[in-house]
Amino acid sequence: MPQLIQLDGSRGEGGGQILRSALALSVITGQAFEMVKIRAGRSKPGLRNQHLTCVLAAQAISAAEVVGAELDSQELLFEPQTLVGGTYHFEQPGAGSAMLVLQTVLMPLLLADTTSRLTLTGGTHNPLAPPFDFIERSFVPCLRKMGADISLTLDQAGFFPVGGGQCRVKIQPVGRLEPLHLSPETGIQRHQGKVLIANLPEHIAERELKALKGSPWERAEIVYVKSRGPGNLILLESQSEQLCTIHEGFGEKKLPAEQVVQKLLSRAMHHVKSKLPVEEYLADQLLLPMALAGGGSFYTSELSQHTRTNIETIQAFLDISIQVKTYGKGWHIHLG
Ligand code: ATP
Repeated sequence: MPQLIQLDGSRGEGGGQILRSALALSVITGQAFEMVKIRAGRSKPGLRNQHLTCVLAAQAISAAEVVGAELDSQELLFEPQTLVGGTYHFEQPGAGSAMLVLQTVLMPLLLADTTSRLTLTGGTHNPLAPPFDFIERSFVPCLRKMGADISLTLDQAGFFPVGGGQCRVKIQPVGRLEPLHLSPETGIQRHQGKVLIANLPEHIAERELKALKGSPWERAEIVYVKSRGPGNLILLESQSEQLCTIHEGFGEKKLPAEQVVQKLLSRAMHHVKSKLPVEEYLADQLLLPMALAGGGSFYTSELSQHTRTNIETIQAFLDISIQVKTYGKGWHIHLG
């Protein structure tokens, strides 16, 4: 019986990501873990609905024995048995992020023995989580370069706070992921802006397009999306041969459309000025697949607390060296 891994959920970033990474790594490696002080640093600590769904999803794919899988629980014991690919429906109550459930089960199911077909319902476009478009066009293409065969379909967008979105994901077992080494060059070939809008007046999207004038994303288009509730999201995409970098900004109720764009542009331009390819969110999400592949490297403009904490969580389960060095205006991260 392998040793029980002890994790302190309040360390570093102290949020839900430590839990999701631990669940994924536990299912993959077969190592049980015990986590205390789950999300202790948050105003409502412990397992919220969206985190509980992730625990239950990880349990479903691994027949895990679990103690503490309850709302508000700050302690969890998770003992995976056997990883089983297959057909699963994971439902986030309300507008909880369905994409964070995918973040929990995607890597394990890639490494399972059989094809998996997932239906995920809930929020597909949530602030503080990867929107469906980010997963589809930024994250998953990196996994494909590592040998993964994943296809995604968005049936209906679910925006916070109404939710009600649905996407489907087909995951073919990969056997083994190949290491991925991304170059420091941005090599951008095309900037593409998109303004997603659902059940809101069209003038909001038009004002956002206008506010993008003079930026690299001024040739943006409006995309009308099917959704139960209202939603507005601006996507600034920069495509190179190796990568699609995406910055997103959500429309907010009391924030004028022009200010939404200004806030987003200042983040995106900060990244562009770094002349490095990987932005902050892709950086923390690439660590897990690269660690599982046994190697990888990339250059990022931001070293977030999420990235630092994810490194610690990964190293609790896997014997892999992860080095972080400053590089130009950002960082070089090397695994393996
Ligand atoms: P909390 O404990 O704060 O409620 P949480 O479970 O909602 O946490 P975090 O632990 O903050 O979530 O992790 C959020 C994840 O979503 C991270 O992997 C981060 O990279 C990703 N993410 C957040 N915002 C974006 C974004 N705009 N684009 C892509 N990914 C994002």
